[in-house]
Amino acid sequence: MIFSMGQFGASVESSARVQAPARSDLAGTPAAEALLDGQRVTGIRLLDQGVDKQGRPVDGFAPGMDIHAALTVVGDGPVGPIGRQLDAHFGLPQGHHTRDWAVGMKFVVDLPENTPLQPGTVWHTFGYPEPEIFGFLYVHPDRVASLGIFVPSWFDSPMRTAYRYLQHWMLHPYLWRHLEGGRLRSWGAKTLGESGRRGEPHLVGDGYARIGEGSGTTNVLTGSGVDEAWASGVQLAEAVLELLEAGKPFTRANLEATYVRRRRASWLETEARVAEKSRDGFQSGVVRGLIGMAVAGLTDGRLALGGEPQPPWQRLPSIEEYYRGRVAPEEIVRLREQCRAQGVSLHNALMDAAGWPPIPYDGRLLVSHQDALLLGGKVQAPPGYADHVVFLYPELCERCGTKICIEACSGQAITPGEAGTPAFDREKCVHCGACLWNCAQPVPGHPDQMNIAFRAGTGGLHSAEN
Ligand SMILES: Cc1cc2nc3c(=O)[nH]c(=O)nc-3n(C[C@H](O)[C@H](O)[C@H](O)COP(=O)(O)OP(=O)(O)OC[C@H]3O[C@@H](n4cnc5c(N)ncnc54)[C@H](O)[C@@H]3O)c2cc1C
Ligand code: SF4
Ligand code: SF4
Repeated sequence: MIFSMGQFGASVESSARVQAPARSDLAGTPAAEALLDGQRVTGIRLLDQGVDKQGRPVDGFAPGMDIHAALTVVGDGPVGPIGRQLDAHFGLPQGHHTRDWAVGMKFVVDLPENTPLQPGTVWHTFGYPEPEIFGFLYVHPDRVASLGIFVPSWFDSPMRTAYRYLQHWMLHPYLWRHLEGGRLRSWGAKTLGESGRRGEPHLVGDGYARIGEGSGTTNVLTGSGVDEAWASGVQLAEAVLELLEAGKPFTRANLEATYVRRRRASWLETEARVAEKSRDGFQSGVVRGLIGMAVAGLTDGRLALGGEPQPPWQRLPSIEEYYRGRVAPEEIVRLREQCRAQGVSLHNALMDAAGWPPIPYDGRLLVSHQDALLLGGKVQAPPGYADHVVFLYPELCERCGTKICIEACSGQAITPGEAGTPAFDREKCVHCGACLWNCAQPVPGHPDQMNIAFRAGTGGLHSAEN
């Protein structure tokens, strides 16, 4: 079944209004934070409106409204601010972490008129244009295809730009003979939380429950997340009905006995256990990673190749190390200065210098990153909201060698700024979360908290079909 989540939401809201007064003016207003009363979640606070980029009140200031609820359901995905706030407040269960992720970038394209590709065609690729990169192409009716790549956390390059790699991927001769003459309809990027079961937070607590990818549902062995996210929501809905019928409150114990019990007894848990360690082998190389995935899959997760995932700041080489033997250090210095003066990221210049072929722009499918922002659907960033990407400790940015947030940014929204701290342009942000995951400097004393705050924000909707 395929349908528009936006229309579905509007439909649910209108039917809910029949039952009880509902606030249609809240739709589209992001939740800024969870309201906490000790260890109990009592609702959410919406974003302040009528503020400047730093969050200071200006004309038309309206503080974010508090919405109290008996049960707050958190399903804000892998980079949602509410989920991350709860993770910070309650901690993760022993041994759990969210260090495995991938940045997925997707194009929706009109295939050329004479395409022989039939609807239902599914291709997956691995190892191109870099050994670590996965690719996919799915053909839909009416010559429409969705295609893209995943750039994983274990790709040890400080130049992890999904956009340029996606263009090289499309230009692979086998793919390009089907794509040449095609047209970009829309594009977008999004993080895929790949820690799966080991990224699972505390699923419930007094007054709240977690569902979807932010609750560790995604199957990292198969890269499948939609059915899993949906199933967790259904299980919670059934649990809520059970508790309401029994007249019981939404306490941790009652939610454990209903929602968590359902989840543990279902295929979600079985699948998650099989997948749990399937990506560990990639921590020490692509070949070992592929063997590890095969072993985990064939033994239903009983065997896996070990390897403890590390955050990027622990595993990323410097730019000089990464390009040793391919680009001379003095050339790196020159290019860095040149790009800084131009206010652009460094990866294009460095990849050119390292011998990557130029992208033959055709104005239809192969377009510049900036043109893609305009061609592929407009980022919607209404005024009156604070910046949602904030560099916490400017001094850390100033001495950050890779400045990987600039290189990895999916929307070219982060650029070299003054005095070494990057600049952020909300108008270009597609809310992929790549900057949050990739940041190369942890906050002092917190190895898993990076120097970027990725807060609730407006915009980021590139196109409904993406
Ligand atoms: C490129 C790519 C391709 C994929 N392909 C497949 C596939 O073929 N099959 C498959 O099964 N899975 C696929 N996945 C995985 C799948 O997309 C995810 O597992 C799934 O979307 C998770 O759903 P979710 O609702 O839990 O989270 P999300 O889809 O991340 O949804 C979370 C929602 O919460 C919203 N939100 C966040 N913060 C706030 C806030 N403060 N206030 C209000 N709203 C907020 C976000 O805007 C978002 O709409 C793919 C992922 C990527 C990146
Ligand atoms: S945000 Fe992180 S990656 Fe970006 S410059 Fe600052 S410390 Fe470096
Ligand atoms: S600034 Fe926005 S577009 Fe750029 S990496 Fe961060 S979330 Fe993605």
